[in-house]
Amino acid sequence: MDQVVVIGAGMAGVSCARVLRAAGLPVRLLDRAGRPGGRMASAEHAGRMVDIGASYFTVSDDRFAEVVGDWRRRGLARPWTDTFDVFSDGALSRHSTGPLRWAAGTGLRTLVQDLADTAGLSVERLAVQAVDSVPGTGLMVAGEPAAAVVLAMPDAQARAVLSPALARERAGLYARFEPVLALSAGWPERAWQPLDGMFVHGDQRLSWIADDGSRRGDGAPVLVAHSTPSWAAEQLDRPDAAGPDTADRLGAADRLGAADRLDAAAGELLRALRQVLRIDSEPSWTSLHRWSYAKPAAGRPVGFQLWPSMVAACGDGWAQRPRVEAAFLSGLSLGTALAARLR
Ligand SMILES: Cc1cc2nc3c(=O)[nH]c(=O)nc-3n(C[C@H](O)[C@H](O)[C@H](O)COP(=O)(O)OP(=O)(O)OC[C@H]3O[C@@H](n4cnc5c(N)ncnc54)[C@H](O)[C@@H]3O)c2cc1C
Repeated sequence: MDQVVVIGAGMAGVSCARVLRAAGLPVRLLDRAGRPGGRMASAEHAGRMVDIGASYFTVSDDRFAEVVGDWRRRGLARPWTDTFDVFSDGALSRHSTGPLRWAAGTGLRTLVQDLADTAGLSVERLAVQAVDSVPGTGLMVAGEPAAAVVLAMPDAQARAVLSPALARERAGLYARFEPVLALSAGWPERAWQPLDGMFVHGDQRLSWIADDGSRRGDGAPVLVAHSTPSWAAEQLDRPDAAGPDTADRLGAADRLGAADRLDAAAGELLRALRQVLRIDSEPSWTSLHRWSYAKPAAGRPVGFQLWPSMVAACGDGWAQRPRVEAAFLSGLSLGTALAARLR
């Protein structure tokens, strides 16, 4: 039997590939980054990992709780906090208590890596350009036939790889994802009051601040600030701000303009962050990450899509409440449905 090709090794793709592998089906797991994680991204800054994508995750479903329990027993996941500060209308107004938020001492990415490793899955580095349907042959990915193709990524990225022959599938991938700019910054020592995380309301630029040292449990003086989606869109929509899709088409002068623009955005976010937390000193380093497709603008009532062509889609875009847990469950449900169909 031809392989099932899973494109995207974020939480959803790895979750799906695990089920397929456990069912004894041949699986090929591809990601352009060459490693698992996706938006559960951790990047190294000043010799330490920083969570620059998802801030934390919550647990409500028993199937995810089982996985998280195992991570906890093995020291990979850690309960972080159930209470965040809220900054509203220029003042620290109140605390917000909610569900327990989980983090990972070694960075959230390592949890997805663990899911892949414990299932014996390796990720092949490939930026897939085209998924095609060839009459008489069937589905083709990167020149090889596939029994089924799983698109485990935001809709726009999935749509971009489907050939015009897969028009019905392209039409089904319509969800809009919002952008976020994530600024990481490190100080020589803590220059702010004790903090886990803070929702920022009423600021045009800033929506959320996480203390990465508190989250990761090592106390490092590192903060990560997320922009509002609307402000990120303003920065990215400017003709001089290159996104991943436009960078190649820009000339040298435009690329320079894009870099300047993002530098300016980083400076503005840093100013807002320092203002909110009343930090007097300059950080020793900063880094800006651009998430063009950070989060779905709205949820969907179905957990995945499996078309008659055997092209399928899963991910946080296929959930009522898009988040890490939803991506896991979407991949799990699609894997189960695909395994039943292919067996
Ligand atoms: C800034 C930010 C903050 C967030 N905060 C939270 C939070 O606090 N709590 C929470 O629960 N969730 C949060 N999320 C959402 C959470 O990260 C996602 O719900 C989850 O990680 C989605 O997983 P996924 O597998 O669906 O997609 P992704 O993680 O996006 O995985 C898609 C993968 O597909 C790959 N890919 C794309 N195109 C191609 C191609 N052509 N060829 C090969 N590979 C390709 C990508 O490299 C990527 O690895 C946040 C996300 C962001 C960006």
